[in-house]
Amino acid sequence: MQVDHIDPNGDDNLENLCLSCWNCNSSKHKATSVIDPESGERTALFNPRLQRWNDHFVWIDNNTQLEGLSAVGRATIERLKMNRPVIVAARQRWVEGGHHPPDA
Ligand SMILES: [Zn+2]
Repeated sequence: MQVDHIDPNGDDNLENLCLSCWNCNSSKHKATSVIDPESGERTALFNPRLQRWNDHFVWIDNNTQLEGLSAVGRATIERLKMNRPVIVAARQRWVEGGHHPPDA
């Protein structure tokens, strides 16, 4: 995991930091908002310090893929490539091993 600055222009205060895998961090890069693929409207990315996971994301397809429950969820999934094939395949193995999905 890497330490990500939630607001890339923000400081190193703990409230602006979160853990992120390499792919999500590099996919997010300096973005703080992106276009919701459903509405076409610009929306903020999910903020793990201020928002609740279950309000924005749900596991589908035998817990191997994420679906956005909100504009924030949909846009974050798209920007961070959270359903890319390699991670979906990994989740399938984690499901089979009883390690996924994590407790929210
Ligand atoms: Zn990730």
